[in-house]
Amino acid sequence: MLLGGCLGLAWVLGGQVLHDLAEGLDRDRLPLWKVVVPLVAVLLTSVIAVRRWAAPVCTRCGTASASTRPVPDAATRRAILRSATVAVVGTVGGFAAAVGRNRGWIAVGRTFIGPGIPTEAPEQEPAWQEARIRRYRRLGRTDAMISDISVGCGQLQDPEIAREAIARGVTYFDTSPDYSTAASERALGEAIQGHRHDLFLATKFCRPNGHLLDETPVPEVMAAVEASLTRLRTDHVDLIHIHSCDRVERLMAANIHEAFDRLKEQGKVRFLGVSTHTPNLERVAHAAIDSGRFDVMMLAYHFGMWPDFGNILEKAKAHDVGIVAMKTLKGAKHTNLASFRREADSYAQAAFRWVLSNPNVSSLVVSFAKPQHVDEYVAASGTPLTTADVRRLEHYDVLVRGDYCQPHCGVCLDSCPESLPINDVLRHRMYSKDYGRERDAMGLYAALERNASACITCPAPCQGQCPHGVPIRDAMLDAHRVLRLPA
Ligand code: SF4
Ligand code: SF4
Repeated sequence: MLLGGCLGLAWVLGGQVLHDLAEGLDRDRLPLWKVVVPLVAVLLTSVIAVRRWAAPVCTRCGTASASTRPVPDAATRRAILRSATVAVVGTVGGFAAAVGRNRGWIAVGRTFIGPGIPTEAPEQEPAWQEARIRRYRRLGRTDAMISDISVGCGQLQDPEIAREAIARGVTYFDTSPDYSTAASERALGEAIQGHRHDLFLATKFCRPNGHLLDETPVPEVMAAVEASLTRLRTDHVDLIHIHSCDRVERLMAANIHEAFDRLKEQGKVRFLGVSTHTPNLERVAHAAIDSGRFDVMMLAYHFGMWPDFGNILEKAKAHDVGIVAMKTLKGAKHTNLASFRREADSYAQAAFRWVLSNPNVSSLVVSFAKPQHVDEYVAASGTPLTTADVRRLEHYDVLVRGDYCQPHCGVCLDSCPESLPINDVLRHRMYSKDYGRERDAMGLYAALERNASACITCPAPCQGQCPHGVPIRDAMLDAHRVLRLPA
């Protein structure tokens, strides 16, 4: 029972700290006592276990007592061994409980985080040289016209790259104090001198060590933004985001909103935004629109990652909330795929054209970390999506995720003699395996009129029918294994 209590503490307290770390909150200000408490609880539990197991049992009443007679050495050794086992089980189990509470981040991390992966094309095309921005789009109710390809400053350290982007017509720059521990804001501040009034600058409620906590006092929030203005060498930013937001409570944190209102009155910020690419993107985005407080949302635009994404974009448009897309390269794993290497040359441009083919997207930000990014990325501006682009992106998806069923497809349905809703079954499987929504997914699966149990004995005429390479029967059997309710 004590061990169960420890695991509960780890789930609630340790899981919260792990979540906050994943969300990027200021690590210097995180309540680390929430990690210490479960560890102390495990330690105490193992001490109690030693005392209980080492204490001899009274021969008359049967209860453990430390005073009845001396403890034999062998019993003590066994007790210490068992208590050490409790400590190990408690620590490992506690860690697993904390990770389990945050399992939704696994899909996000797998999709977007790819350290050391090159993001530029292996061969730079001569035609990309001196490319210029060809299209500017309206950013929702801010009424600003911004370049369709914009600079994400996550890796910006060299002001010359930003200067070159400005020279090519890029007008939207997105930075944050925690990008390269504020070096990004400093580099951008240097680059924009003489161009400030032609540009739309976005930064974040953040310090160099991470995002501001919900309860940060209003004067401290304002001081953090003023420090950004100093580094950017400007008297105002056009947009300030609540950064990488995964919780509606953080989205609506009263202190942050009060600080924004005061800064706006002082002319130091103009518009409020939220950026999110986190497991709760859908909930956060709906809440942001419903609140009426947000002028812009910066969202990870990744087909299939969040099923409700199309509705979110339509709703944002209806409320005139500007949309900036990010994470459009899906982690840029394309350049690591040997069989995709030849096509990878133009993968980034194809991905950009696909994102910008949605008229509800105002712009996309992509990290301009190297000089060659300016040529390659800007060359995609204002160019239409082609069927070759779509083929390339689909091929990439197949290579990256051979079992990924595109939810709106349905091409294989006629091949199934059992009339199984293959795309629905595989979508529920995706909810369970990729989004960590096991319970929802099992409920949805249980509600289907026909499920994949029919696949067990079927000769599988569906095999080879998926143009996206999904091995349908195997995926359906896996779905049935993962989603069926326990007997
Ligand atoms: S294996 Fe399953 S999905 Fe495929 S044809 Fe048979 S019943 Fe339908
Ligand atoms: S399995 Fe393939 S063909 Fe069938 S719905 Fe999914 S993506 Fe389309």
